[in-house]
Amino acid sequence: MENKKELRTWLDNLKLNHPLVIAGPCSAETEEQVLKIAHDLKNTDVSYYRAGIWKPRTRPGNFEGVGALGLKWLQKVKEETGLKTATEVANRTHVELALDHDIDLLWIGARSTVNPFLVQEIADALKGTDKIVLVKNPVNPDLSLWLGAIERLKSANIKNMGVIHRGFSTYEKTKYRNNPEWQIAIDLQTRFPDLPLINDPSHITGRRDMIFDVSQTALDLNFDGLMIETHIDPDNAWSDAAQQVTPKKLIEIMRDLRIPKVSNSEEKYTRALSNLRAQIDVVDNQLIDLLGKRMKIADDIGGIKKEKNVAVLQSKRWNEILGKMILEGESKGLSEEFILKIFKAVHLESINHQEKIING
Ligand code: PEP
Ligand code: MN
Repeated sequence: MENKKELRTWLDNLKLNHPLVIAGPCSAETEEQVLKIAHDLKNTDVSYYRAGIWKPRTRPGNFEGVGALGLKWLQKVKEETGLKTATEVANRTHVELALDHDIDLLWIGARSTVNPFLVQEIADALKGTDKIVLVKNPVNPDLSLWLGAIERLKSANIKNMGVIHRGFSTYEKTKYRNNPEWQIAIDLQTRFPDLPLINDPSHITGRRDMIFDVSQTALDLNFDGLMIETHIDPDNAWSDAAQQVTPKKLIEIMRDLRIPKVSNSEEKYTRALSNLRAQIDVVDNQLIDLLGKRMKIADDIGGIKKEKNVAVLQSKRWNEILGKMILEGESKGLSEEFILKIFKAVHLESINHQEKIING
């Protein structure tokens, strides 16, 4: 039975004994760069070689990709290294050119997934293809746009599909380039348990020193693979320089990642546990973020209280907050005792922050 399950998707058919790895530069820059990176990645755990040919840039005036010429370089990669090839497509022409050049895996980028017209155009152009098509999450944290794109491709009879989690835009700066919002990827996995789920730590972090940790979290959350931007000279890359790693670094990352395995009940238990622990870690980080945010607001309140010479402790307001939170907590199954403890601690920290502001 285990076997039947194993050969369900294109990914299972690859019969890898490790997570799928897609690697290669953010952008194809020159033929030499594309081939050099590919040669460094052959005979490693990398299965698919990625390179952006048409680059969606948020602001004009940046490198917008080499265009169709790069597809020839990818064909050469396949001939010379045996690596399968992957690129982003964002319209009908891209799809037609990519199929003409026998690209093995096409992905829809985050800026395209947000646009149902574009997704439909791409789906129509791909109709019935047996190439692998991966859908990146939309730039905004909206599960239904992501689901909608999957449904459009399913309706176009695309059989070999998967999704890439690359994080989400936020107006507020976080330590990530694109906030992971892991829960959205987990929810998608719950809706479509058979869709291979790949993590893109490069676009989530925007920083090469955080790639390992995000990759490990993804594996602990049962992701099926990783897409990691890799460049021979990351600092001088024509796009996304800060987040690319060298092939040597990628090989170290692949060596050091802990891969959860399922083969007996003991390991199943360990995997379920590490999955849940990774979810707890995500929530704990959100708690710290939110508490930090709350204290920043308290600082601002301290600032205006100082100006008006108003007392820090406002008991009426505090009692209102407590009453509301006890009710909210009850509806989430949290005891009154617990809410009191937590909010007293939060309130005390707030007062300390305000006092620091007021008394210099
Ligand atoms: C990319 O993979 O290089 C890319 C442009 O990604 P995204 O669509 O996630 O921004
Ligand atoms: Mn990129």
